[in-house]
Amino acid sequence: MPTSEARSGEVAIRRSHPAWCESENECGTTALHLSGLWSVAPRGDEVIQVRAGLWRMDVGPAGAEGVAVELSVGEDVEWWPIDLAQARALVRVLNDLLRNADRASSRAA
Ligand SMILES: [Zn+2]
Repeated sequence: MPTSEARSGEVAIRRSHPAWCESENECGTTALHLSGLWSVAPRGDEVIQVRAGLWRMDVGPAGAEGVAVELSVGEDVEWWPIDLAQARALVRVLNDLLRNADRASSRAA
């Protein structure tokens, strides 16, 4: 019966609604929880804007969650949801790359 399935699905979504979700009105029907996006703008005049937030999709018994990475230039916006393991690996890769960049620039100075 589709009606009882929908009802039990809604109960499951409400029970596991994360505190950081800002799409409360929509996630009850889409099962996609989204946080606000945090801006990455150390100078404030960056041509390429970077923002990141949390997402979680209530699908299947385990669901899926991760970090949404948004890159934009003007009205050109790309938005990709990567999983938590990828997000953690991305942090490690960025740290390694930045260490290499710092080492190269201190050698050049
Ligand atoms: Zn939500």
